[in-house]
Amino acid sequence: MGRPFFTVATAAPMDGFASSIAAINVNSLKTTFQAQTPTVILGDTEILKNAPYRMIAAGLGDLLGKFTCLCDWKLSRLINREHYCENIAGLVESCVQNVLKDAGKAKDRDPEVLGKIMEGLVLTGVAMSLYGNSRPASGCEHHMSHYWEMWFEQRGLRPVPHGTQVGVATVLVLKLAEKLRGTKVDFDAARESARSYSPEAWERAIHRAYGPAAEGVIALEEASRKNESAGRLARIDAIQSHWEEITALLAELPGSAEVMELLRSLQSPCLPEEIGVDGRLLRDTLLYAKEVRPRYTLLQMAWDLGVLERLSDDLISNLQHL
Ligand SMILES: [Zn+2]
Repeated sequence: MGRPFFTVATAAPMDGFASSIAAINVNSLKTTFQAQTPTVILGDTEILKNAPYRMIAAGLGDLLGKFTCLCDWKLSRLINREHYCENIAGLVESCVQNVLKDAGKAKDRDPEVLGKIMEGLVLTGVAMSLYGNSRPASGCEHHMSHYWEMWFEQRGLRPVPHGTQVGVATVLVLKLAEKLRGTKVDFDAARESARSYSPEAWERAIHRAYGPAAEGVIALEEASRKNESAGRLARIDAIQSHWEEITALLAELPGSAEVMELLRSLQSPCLPEEIGVDGRLLRDTLLYAKEVRPRYTLLQMAWDLGVLERLSDDLISNLQHL
């Protein structure tokens, strides 16, 4: 309503405190709106440290997602020449590095670490406000979370908190990135798959994967045309010519095992089955969560290269053996 307001945090489970946007479900589709930022945000570590573990872990999960989201932004800068702001990306990066150093102490409810998590979550929200959209703080790990939220809400089920979902999704994206780095990409096969793309088959899959939200997703694709062959072929050329830089970017990401261990130390979920996501839903998530926004991410890059399906199936079968 555009009214000024103060926010007093009793926990730090997500990065929406300073955000200038609001994610609201409209006609079953998670949609982003411009919103008012608060005049004042209060985060008292004496209060924050008494929050339940699962909320502390959720905040940490939302912050850990910044690694993959920044990677998405850097990939898009290389592949699509998307505008990229060093200062804002640097601000978000320093927030997460700062937290990751001592994150192990979160389980002791160390007020200093909880203060850093709160600060990181507030500053990444500030980064979104400064940039004017959520590019600096939301990548494919968030698209997966949005997808789950819609899926559960369509069935009248309550999804786990946003940050918890983002933590689990971050582990999945990191595992996918690890697989992609080790993959020998056949660029000519990727071009062949781009040429044989069928929008009709895609639409059928979207109806199945999105249910009542499908129309909204199809309208997004009609506006952005991110899956069309011409654009995809141009991106495949760009990916091929930057492949070394791309694999170097993927190698800079933290290890999935390290992030899992951190979430485990807070007794927080780190695998899809622990948040009610079974193998079938996970497959749809990996293949179609990228359709929730036109934003370019690692999932879209893997799809561009024609390896998303294979890597996803690989990942799902690895998870079953964990
Ligand atoms: Zn978030």
